[in-house]
Amino acid sequence: MKLAARIARIGPSPTLHITATAKAMTSQGLDVVDFAAGEPAWDTPDFVKAAAKAAIDAGFTKYTPVGGIPELKAAIVHKLARDHGVQYDPSQIIVSCGAKHALYNLAQVLFDPGDEVIIPAPYWVSYPEIVRLADATPVFLPTQESMQYAIDPKALEACITPQTKALILNSPCNPTGTLYTRQTLEAVATIALRHNLIIISDEIYETLVYDGAQHISPISLTPDLLAQTVVVNGVSKSFAMTGWRIGYAAGPQDIITAMTHLQSQSTSNPSSIAQKAALAALQSDGTFCHTLVADLIRKRDFMIQQLNTMPGITCPLPSGTFYAFPNVSALLGRESRQGPLHTPSDLATYLLHEAHVACVPGEPFGATQHLRLSYTGDWEVLKRGLARMEAAIRALT
Ligand code: PMP
Ligand code: GLU
Repeated sequence: MKLAARIARIGPSPTLHITATAKAMTSQGLDVVDFAAGEPAWDTPDFVKAAAKAAIDAGFTKYTPVGGIPELKAAIVHKLARDHGVQYDPSQIIVSCGAKHALYNLAQVLFDPGDEVIIPAPYWVSYPEIVRLADATPVFLPTQESMQYAIDPKALEACITPQTKALILNSPCNPTGTLYTRQTLEAVATIALRHNLIIISDEIYETLVYDGAQHISPISLTPDLLAQTVVVNGVSKSFAMTGWRIGYAAGPQDIITAMTHLQSQSTSNPSSIAQKAALAALQSDGTFCHTLVADLIRKRDFMIQQLNTMPGITCPLPSGTFYAFPNVSALLGRESRQGPLHTPSDLATYLLHEAHVACVPGEPFGATQHLRLSYTGDWEVLKRGLARMEAAIRALT
Protein backbone atom coordinates (compact mmCIF):
# COMPACT_ATOMS: atom_id res chain seq x y z
CA MET A 1 0.00 0.00 0.00
CA LYS A 2 1.35 3.42 -0.90
CA LEU A 3 0.81 5.60 2.13
CA ALA A 4 0.74 9.39 2.20
CA ALA A 5 4.13 11.11 2.00
CA ARG A 6 3.55 12.91 5.29
CA ILE A 7 3.57 9.73 7.34
CA ALA A 8 6.88 8.67 5.78
CA ARG A 9 8.39 11.84 7.21
CA ILE A 10 7.97 10.73 10.82
CA GLY A 11 8.70 7.73 13.00
CA PRO A 12 6.77 6.39 16.00
CA SER A 13 7.33 8.10 19.34
CA PRO A 14 10.53 6.48 20.70
CA THR A 15 9.65 7.31 24.30
CA LEU A 16 6.31 5.55 24.05
CA HIS A 17 7.94 2.69 22.11
CA ILE A 18 10.60 1.99 24.74
CA THR A 19 8.05 2.10 27.55
CA ALA A 20 5.90 -0.37 25.59
CA THR A 21 8.93 -2.67 25.08
CA ALA A 22 9.69 -2.60 28.82
CA LYS A 23 6.03 -3.41 29.61
CA ALA A 24 6.05 -6.26 27.06
CA MET A 25 9.21 -7.75 28.65
CA THR A 26 7.57 -7.47 32.08
CA SER A 27 4.48 -9.29 30.84
CA GLN A 28 6.78 -12.12 29.68
CA GLY A 29 7.78 -12.55 33.33
CA LEU A 30 11.04 -10.55 33.25
CA ASP A 31 11.79 -8.14 36.09
CA VAL A 32 12.36 -4.99 34.06
CA VAL A 33 13.03 -1.68 35.82
CA ASP A 34 11.46 1.08 33.77
CA PHE A 35 13.46 4.30 33.87
CA ALA A 36 12.08 5.21 30.44
CA ALA A 37 8.57 6.21 31.44
CA GLY A 38 7.63 9.82 30.87
CA GLU A 39 5.05 9.92 33.62
CA PRO A 40 4.82 10.04 37.42
CA ALA A 41 4.54 6.54 38.89
CA TRP A 42 1.99 7.94 41.36
CA ASP A 43 -1.66 7.12 41.01
CA THR A 44 -4.09 9.88 40.04
CA PRO A 45 -5.35 11.51 43.28
CA ASP A 46 -8.59 10.17 44.75
CA PHE A 47 -10.38 13.51 44.60
CA VAL A 48 -9.81 13.58 40.84
CA LYS A 49 -11.09 10.02 40.44
CA ALA A 50 -14.13 10.94 42.56
CA ALA A 51 -14.94 13.84 40.24
CA ALA A 52 -14.77 11.51 37.24
CA LYS A 53 -17.02 8.95 38.93
CA ALA A 54 -19.49 11.68 39.84
CA ALA A 55 -19.50 12.84 36.21
CA ILE A 56 -20.34 9.34 35.03
CA ASP A 57 -23.08 8.91 37.65
CA ALA A 58 -24.56 12.28 36.74
CA GLY A 59 -24.74 11.21 33.09
CA PHE A 60 -22.11 13.74 32.00
CA THR A 61 -21.24 11.39 29.19
CA LYS A 62 -22.22 13.23 26.02
CA TYR A 63 -20.52 15.60 23.60
CA THR A 64 -19.36 18.83 25.17
CA PRO A 65 -18.42 22.09 23.44
CA VAL A 66 -15.53 21.20 21.10
CA GLY A 67 -12.92 23.35 22.86
CA GLY A 68 -13.88 22.33 26.40
CA ILE A 69 -16.60 22.90 28.98
CA PRO A 70 -16.99 26.52 30.18
CA GLU A 71 -16.15 25.70 33.81
CA LEU A 72 -12.86 24.05 32.82
CA LYS A 73 -11.94 26.99 30.59
CA ALA A 74 -12.82 29.31 33.49
CA ALA A 75 -10.51 27.31 35.79
CA ILE A 76 -7.69 27.61 33.22
CA VAL A 77 -8.32 31.36 32.88
CA HIS A 78 -8.17 31.63 36.67
CA LYS A 79 -4.93 29.60 36.85
CA LEU A 80 -3.18 31.72 34.23
CA ALA A 81 -4.23 34.97 35.95
CA ARG A 82 -3.13 33.64 39.35
CA ASP A 83 0.22 32.25 38.22
CA HIS A 84 1.27 34.70 35.53
CA GLY A 85 -0.85 37.80 36.10
CA VAL A 86 -2.34 37.57 32.60
CA GLN A 87 -6.10 37.85 32.06
CA TYR A 88 -7.28 35.65 29.18
CA ASP A 89 -10.79 35.52 27.80
CA PRO A 90 -12.31 31.98 27.64
CA SER A 91 -12.34 32.37 23.84
CA GLN A 92 -8.54 32.34 24.04
CA ILE A 93 -8.46 28.86 25.60
CA ILE A 94 -8.84 25.44 24.00
CA VAL A 95 -8.91 22.13 25.85
CA SER A 96 -7.49 19.24 23.82
CA CYS A 97 -6.72 15.53 24.26
CA GLY A 98 -3.41 16.11 26.06
CA ALA A 99 -0.72 18.74 25.62
CA LYS A 100 0.62 16.74 22.68
CA HIS A 101 -2.70 17.13 20.88
CA ALA A 102 -2.73 20.86 21.65
CA LEU A 103 0.75 21.14 20.10
CA TYR A 104 -0.33 19.12 17.08
CA ASN A 105 -3.40 21.30 16.52
CA LEU A 106 -1.30 24.41 16.93
CA ALA A 107 1.27 23.30 14.37
CA GLN A 108 -1.46 22.39 11.90
CA VAL A 109 -3.08 25.81 12.06
CA LEU A 110 0.15 27.85 12.13
CA PHE A 111 2.57 26.34 9.67
CA ASP A 112 2.80 26.15 5.91
CA PRO A 113 5.37 24.37 3.74
CA GLY A 114 8.65 26.27 3.90
CA ASP A 115 8.05 27.69 7.37
CA GLU A 116 10.91 27.13 9.80
CA VAL A 117 10.44 26.43 13.48
CA ILE A 118 13.36 26.81 15.88
CA ILE A 119 13.69 24.06 18.46
CA PRO A 120 16.44 24.28 21.11
CA ALA A 121 18.27 20.94 21.32
CA PRO A 122 18.14 18.64 23.23
CA TYR A 123 14.36 18.66 22.72
CA TRP A 124 11.33 16.56 23.45
CA VAL A 125 11.09 13.84 20.80
CA SER A 126 7.73 14.88 19.38
CA TYR A 127 8.49 18.52 18.51
CA PRO A 128 10.32 17.89 15.22
CA GLU A 129 7.74 15.32 14.15
CA ILE A 130 4.78 17.58 14.96
CA VAL A 131 6.46 20.34 12.93
CA ARG A 132 7.15 17.95 10.02
CA LEU A 133 3.55 16.71 10.07
CA ALA A 134 2.56 20.31 9.41
CA ASP A 135 4.90 20.35 6.36
CA ALA A 136 7.20 22.83 8.08
CA THR A 137 10.91 22.46 8.82
CA PRO A 138 12.43 22.06 12.28
CA VAL A 139 15.62 24.09 12.76
CA PHE A 140 17.67 22.93 15.73
CA LEU A 141 19.39 25.39 18.01
CA PRO A 142 22.14 23.52 19.88
CA THR A 143 22.57 24.27 23.59
CA GLN A 144 25.49 23.17 25.78
CA GLU A 145 25.57 21.03 28.89
CA SER A 146 28.40 23.21 30.24
CA MET A 147 26.05 26.23 30.02
CA GLN A 148 23.15 24.35 31.70
CA TYR A 149 21.53 24.13 28.26
CA ALA A 150 20.67 27.84 28.34
CA ILE A 151 19.68 29.47 25.04
CA ASP A 152 22.48 31.66 23.71
CA PRO A 153 20.76 34.77 22.29
CA LYS A 154 23.43 35.20 19.60
CA ALA A 155 23.05 31.59 18.47
CA LEU A 156 19.27 32.02 18.42
CA GLU A 157 19.49 35.14 16.30
CA ALA A 158 21.84 33.32 13.90
CA CYS A 159 19.17 30.65 13.29
CA ILE A 160 16.55 33.16 12.20
CA THR A 161 15.78 33.49 8.49
CA PRO A 162 12.92 35.18 6.64
CA GLN A 163 11.17 31.77 6.80
CA THR A 164 11.33 31.49 10.59
CA LYS A 165 7.81 31.45 11.96
CA ALA A 166 8.07 30.18 15.52
CA LEU A 167 10.25 29.07 18.40
CA ILE A 168 9.38 26.26 20.79
CA LEU A 169 10.35 26.76 24.43
CA ASN A 170 10.05 23.99 27.02
CA SER A 171 10.91 25.03 30.55
CA PRO A 172 11.52 22.98 32.61
CA CYS A 173 12.87 21.01 29.71
CA ASN A 174 12.32 17.37 28.81
CA PRO A 175 14.92 15.80 28.67
CA THR A 176 17.55 18.10 30.25
CA GLY A 177 15.59 19.26 33.31
CA THR A 178 16.75 22.83 32.61
CA LEU A 179 14.69 25.75 33.81
CA TYR A 180 15.22 28.92 31.80
CA THR A 181 16.21 31.95 33.85
CA ARG A 182 14.43 35.29 33.63
CA GLN A 183 17.53 36.71 31.95
CA THR A 184 17.47 34.04 29.22
CA LEU A 185 13.75 34.45 28.70
CA GLU A 186 13.99 38.23 28.47
CA ALA A 187 16.72 37.97 25.87
CA VAL A 188 14.65 35.44 23.90
CA ALA A 189 11.55 37.64 24.20
CA THR A 190 13.41 40.66 22.82
CA ILE A 191 14.55 38.63 19.82
CA ALA A 192 11.08 37.15 19.27
CA LEU A 193 9.55 40.62 19.30
CA ARG A 194 12.21 42.01 16.96
CA HIS A 195 11.70 39.22 14.41
CA ASN A 196 7.98 38.75 14.97
CA LEU A 197 8.38 35.09 15.97
CA ILE A 198 5.58 33.13 17.57
CA ILE A 199 6.65 31.65 20.90
CA ILE A 200 5.18 28.25 21.69
CA SER A 201 5.74 27.83 25.40
CA ASP A 202 5.29 24.22 26.52
CA GLU A 203 4.84 24.44 30.29
CA ILE A 204 3.74 20.88 30.99
CA TYR A 205 6.41 20.40 33.73
CA GLU A 206 5.80 23.84 35.26
CA THR A 207 4.99 22.62 38.78
CA LEU A 208 7.85 20.10 38.92
CA VAL A 209 10.66 22.46 39.92
CA TYR A 210 13.17 22.09 42.75
CA ASP A 211 15.42 23.89 45.20
CA GLY A 212 13.22 26.97 45.36
CA ALA A 213 13.63 27.61 41.64
CA GLN A 214 10.72 29.35 39.98
CA HIS A 215 9.16 28.57 36.65
CA ILE A 216 8.73 31.72 34.58
CA SER A 217 6.36 31.88 31.66
CA PRO A 218 7.20 34.25 28.81
CA ILE A 219 3.64 35.62 29.03
CA SER A 220 4.49 37.10 32.43
CA LEU A 221 7.42 39.10 31.03
CA THR A 222 5.70 41.75 28.96
CA PRO A 223 2.17 42.27 27.58
CA ASP A 224 3.80 42.91 24.18
CA LEU A 225 4.41 39.17 23.84
CA LEU A 226 0.79 38.12 24.30
CA ALA A 227 -0.15 38.65 20.66
CA GLN A 228 2.53 36.17 19.55
CA THR A 229 2.72 33.61 22.36
CA VAL A 230 0.78 30.40 22.82
CA VAL A 231 1.10 28.63 26.16
CA VAL A 232 0.61 24.86 26.16
CA ASN A 233 0.01 23.02 29.41
CA GLY A 234 -2.13 20.27 30.92
CA VAL A 235 -2.76 18.04 33.89
CA SER A 236 -0.77 14.99 32.73
CA LYS A 237 2.40 15.48 34.76
CA SER A 238 1.36 17.74 37.65
CA PHE A 239 -1.58 15.55 38.66
CA ALA A 240 -0.34 12.13 37.52
CA MET A 241 -3.09 12.08 34.87
CA THR A 242 -1.21 11.03 31.73
CA GLY A 243 -3.89 8.53 30.74
CA TRP A 244 -6.80 10.95 31.04
CA ARG A 245 -5.64 12.97 28.03
CA ILE A 246 -6.38 16.55 28.98
CA GLY A 247 -4.14 19.41 27.88
CA TYR A 248 -4.83 22.96 26.83
CA ALA A 249 -3.52 25.96 24.93
CA ALA A 250 -3.96 29.67 25.66
CA GLY A 251 -3.15 32.33 23.11
CA PRO A 252 -4.40 34.83 20.55
CA GLN A 253 -8.06 34.33 19.75
CA ASP A 254 -7.63 33.76 16.00
CA ILE A 255 -5.16 30.92 16.62
CA ILE A 256 -7.38 29.31 19.27
CA THR A 257 -10.46 29.60 17.06
CA ALA A 258 -8.61 27.93 14.18
CA MET A 259 -7.45 25.13 16.50
CA THR A 260 -11.04 24.67 17.67
CA HIS A 261 -12.25 24.37 14.06
CA LEU A 262 -9.57 21.74 13.40
CA GLN A 263 -10.51 19.87 16.55
CA SER A 264 -14.20 20.00 15.57
CA GLN A 265 -13.32 18.15 12.36
CA SER A 266 -11.02 15.62 13.96
CA THR A 267 -11.34 14.48 17.59
CA SER A 268 -14.29 16.71 18.69
CA ASN A 269 -14.20 17.44 22.42
CA PRO A 270 -11.80 15.68 24.78
CA SER A 271 -13.56 13.11 26.99
CA SER A 272 -16.38 14.75 28.98
CA ILE A 273 -15.46 12.67 32.04
CA ALA A 274 -11.76 13.52 31.87
CA GLN A 275 -12.65 17.21 31.58
CA LYS A 276 -14.56 17.02 34.89
CA ALA A 277 -11.57 15.22 36.41
CA ALA A 278 -9.19 17.92 35.13
CA LEU A 279 -11.50 20.59 36.55
CA ALA A 280 -11.21 19.00 40.02
CA ALA A 281 -7.43 18.86 39.60
CA LEU A 282 -7.11 22.52 38.59
CA GLN A 283 -9.46 23.66 41.37
CA SER A 284 -7.48 21.80 44.05
CA ASP A 285 -5.25 23.58 46.54
CA GLY A 286 -1.85 22.38 45.33
CA THR A 287 -1.26 19.87 48.14
CA PHE A 288 -0.96 16.97 45.70
CA CYS A 289 1.69 18.74 43.60
CA HIS A 290 3.66 19.75 46.69
CA THR A 291 3.71 16.19 47.97
CA LEU A 292 4.68 14.90 44.53
CA VAL A 293 7.53 17.40 44.28
CA ALA A 294 8.75 16.56 47.80
CA ASP A 295 8.92 12.89 46.81
CA LEU A 296 10.57 13.59 43.46
CA ILE A 297 13.27 15.81 44.91
CA ARG A 298 14.50 13.04 47.22
CA LYS A 299 14.48 10.55 44.36
CA ARG A 300 16.25 13.03 42.10
CA ASP A 301 19.00 13.54 44.65
CA PHE A 302 19.41 9.80 45.10
CA MET A 303 19.47 8.99 41.40
CA ILE A 304 21.88 11.78 40.49
CA GLN A 305 24.23 10.84 43.32
CA GLN A 306 24.17 7.16 42.29
CA LEU A 307 24.71 7.96 38.62
CA ASN A 308 27.73 10.08 39.48
CA THR A 309 29.34 7.16 41.31
CA MET A 310 29.21 5.01 38.15
CA PRO A 311 32.49 5.00 36.23
CA GLY A 312 32.16 6.85 32.93
CA ILE A 313 28.94 8.66 33.85
CA THR A 314 28.51 12.28 34.91
CA CYS A 315 25.15 13.82 35.65
CA PRO A 316 24.30 17.41 36.60
CA LEU A 317 21.48 18.12 39.05
CA PRO A 318 18.36 19.00 37.04
CA SER A 319 16.24 21.95 38.26
CA GLY A 320 12.92 20.52 37.12
CA THR A 321 10.94 17.66 35.48
CA PHE A 322 11.53 14.08 36.67
CA TYR A 323 14.34 13.20 34.29
CA ALA A 324 18.04 12.67 34.85
CA PHE A 325 20.13 13.32 31.73
CA PRO A 326 23.53 11.75 32.35
CA ASN A 327 26.45 12.23 30.00
CA VAL A 328 27.69 8.78 28.97
CA SER A 329 30.26 9.85 26.36
CA ALA A 330 33.09 8.19 28.33
CA LEU A 331 31.34 4.82 27.91
CA LEU A 332 31.00 5.06 24.15
CA GLY A 333 33.58 2.88 22.43
CA ARG A 334 33.66 0.41 25.32
CA GLU A 335 33.02 -3.31 24.82
CA SER A 336 30.09 -5.25 26.22
CA ARG A 337 29.35 -8.97 26.10
CA GLN A 338 26.98 -8.12 23.27
CA GLY A 339 29.55 -6.17 21.27
CA PRO A 340 30.92 -2.62 21.15
CA LEU A 341 28.84 0.30 22.38
CA HIS A 342 29.17 3.10 19.86
CA THR A 343 26.12 5.18 20.67
CA PRO A 344 23.69 5.92 23.51
CA SER A 345 21.24 3.62 21.68
CA ASP A 346 23.77 0.76 21.86
CA LEU A 347 24.19 1.46 25.56
CA ALA A 348 20.43 1.60 26.21
CA THR A 349 19.97 -1.70 24.34
CA TYR A 350 22.79 -3.27 26.35
CA LEU A 351 21.27 -2.07 29.64
CA LEU A 352 17.85 -3.38 28.67
CA HIS A 353 19.07 -6.85 27.76
CA GLU A 354 21.93 -7.20 30.25
CA ALA A 355 20.51 -5.44 33.30
CA HIS A 356 16.80 -5.36 32.45
CA VAL A 357 16.86 -1.61 32.93
CA ALA A 358 14.95 0.49 30.39
CA CYS A 359 16.08 4.05 29.70
CA VAL A 360 15.77 6.29 26.66
CA PRO A 361 18.88 6.94 24.55
CA GLY A 362 19.73 10.54 23.73
CA GLU A 363 19.52 10.37 19.93
CA PRO A 364 15.76 10.97 19.55
CA PHE A 365 16.19 14.04 21.78
CA GLY A 366 18.95 15.32 19.49
CA ALA A 367 21.70 14.32 21.96
CA THR A 368 24.50 11.96 20.96
CA GLN A 369 26.18 11.60 24.37
CA HIS A 370 23.34 11.12 26.83
CA LEU A 371 20.70 8.82 28.24
CA ARG A 372 17.41 9.88 29.82
CA LEU A 373 16.26 8.20 33.02
CA SER A 374 13.02 8.93 34.92
CA TYR A 375 13.20 8.91 38.70
CA THR A 376 9.48 8.67 39.38
CA GLY A 377 9.30 5.02 40.49
CA ASP A 378 9.16 3.41 43.93
CA TRP A 379 12.27 3.54 46.10
CA GLU A 380 12.85 -0.19 45.87
CA VAL A 381 12.61 -0.10 42.08
CA LEU A 382 14.92 2.89 41.93
CA LYS A 383 17.54 1.21 44.09
CA ARG A 384 17.30 -2.12 42.28
CA GLY A 385 17.52 -0.53 38.83
CA LEU A 386 20.50 1.67 39.69
CA ALA A 387 22.38 -1.22 41.33
CA ARG A 388 21.84 -3.37 38.25
CA MET A 389 22.83 -0.56 35.96
CA GLU A 390 26.04 0.02 37.91
CA ALA A 391 26.95 -3.68 37.74
CA ALA A 392 26.35 -3.71 33.97
CA ILE A 393 28.46 -0.57 33.50
CA ARG A 394 31.30 -1.98 35.63
CA ALA A 395 31.22 -5.11 33.47
CA LEU A 396 32.19 -3.11 30.36
CA THR A 397 35.75 -3.45 29.16
N1 PMP B 1 5.39 18.27 26.20
C1 PMP B 1 6.42 17.62 26.77
C2 PMP B 1 7.72 18.32 26.88
C3 PMP B 1 6.28 16.32 27.22
O1 PMP B 1 7.31 15.68 27.79
C4 PMP B 1 5.05 15.68 27.07
C5 PMP B 1 4.98 14.25 27.53
N2 PMP B 1 3.91 13.59 27.45
C6 PMP B 1 3.99 16.40 26.48
C7 PMP B 1 4.20 17.69 26.05
C8 PMP B 1 2.65 15.80 26.24
O2 PMP B 1 1.86 15.71 27.38
P1 PMP B 1 0.42 15.05 27.32
O3 PMP B 1 0.53 13.74 27.98
O4 PMP B 1 -0.47 16.00 28.09
O5 PMP B 1 0.01 14.94 25.91
N1 GLU C 1 6.46 13.01 27.29
C1 GLU C 1 6.78 11.76 27.86
C2 GLU C 1 8.19 11.35 27.47
O1 GLU C 1 8.91 12.14 26.95
C3 GLU C 1 5.73 10.72 27.58
C4 GLU C 1 5.83 9.94 26.31
C5 GLU C 1 5.55 10.82 25.13
O2 GLU C 1 4.40 11.25 24.97
O3 GLU C 1 6.50 11.06 24.42
O4 GLU C 1 8.59 10.26 27.73
